[in-house]
Amino acid sequence: MASRPIISRTVPALRKALQPYRAKRQTIALVPTMGALHSGHLALVKEAQKRAKRVVVSIFVNPTQFAPHEDFGSYPRRFEADVKALSEAKVDLVWAPSPAVMYPEGFATRLAPEGAALAGLEDKFRPHFFGGVATVVSKLFTQVAPDVAIFGQKDYQQLRVVTQMAKDLDLPLKVIGLPTVREKDGLALSSRNVYLSELERGHAPVLYRTLKNCAARIKAGEPIEMVLEEGRLEITRAEFALDYLDARHALSLAPVASVKDGPIRLLVAAKIGKTRLIDNLAV
Ligand code: AMP
Repeated sequence: MASRPIISRTVPALRKALQPYRAKRQTIALVPTMGALHSGHLALVKEAQKRAKRVVVSIFVNPTQFAPHEDFGSYPRRFEADVKALSEAKVDLVWAPSPAVMYPEGFATRLAPEGAALAGLEDKFRPHFFGGVATVVSKLFTQVAPDVAIFGQKDYQQLRVVTQMAKDLDLPLKVIGLPTVREKDGLALSSRNVYLSELERGHAPVLYRTLKNCAARIKAGEPIEMVLEEGRLEITRAEFALDYLDARHALSLAPVASVKDGPIRLLVAAKIGKTRLIDNLAV
């Protein structure tokens, strides 16, 4: 049986657990997660192991990135199952602070990211979101001080915001984004997929199907806005309430009018029943 990783729950305990790695000058990779781990997260862990001697996975459902009407209370929490999966994956350390450890009484500082964080995508529908993400990720980076941090491209705007934040704050680490792990039918793995009813799960692959179809047509030279308009129709016909389907510059996330303005990334967010799903794809 694989040995259990060290589990740290306070900042002093985390520092103590990391100290032997630092003393031996071992490189450290951090994989930040909100738990309810699936094979997408485990792919990040595998890459982390290739890039550093020691791997730390943080599990923290961050209250400051959820609005009051969102799913903070019901977000899936499966700590024991997660630790088991991370033991099998031979992770060294699990950083699992409570909200009170992360945000002690009197906590009064919040980052306000701009640029990609104000692109009019996720930020338009979750205005509190990137402030919460940037704040907690900057804290995770300071607490763990990793050489490299691994994120998924699944949360594409988040990846752009975090990459910029690390650069702007001169944090001495490399941020890596890895491709999205998908189900056989194309649905991006997500901890929130457990919310889907059988019927909704049947409709869900329309998001990736539409992204793929739109990317191919845009690459072939069809006008972007026309292709996107047809894509939007396809998604709403599959019972989704669409938040956005848009084409943006892959780095700045600024709007693009043609492939000449690229590289282009297509990004989508839509709600089916109570579940909001996001996905994206390179053109
Ligand atoms: P979460 O626990 O959903 O906040 O995600 C933690 C990290 O895992 C983020 O960097 C996500 O982008 C990444 N991630 C989530 N789903 C996937 C997936 N299907 N493929 C690859 N990475 C993912």
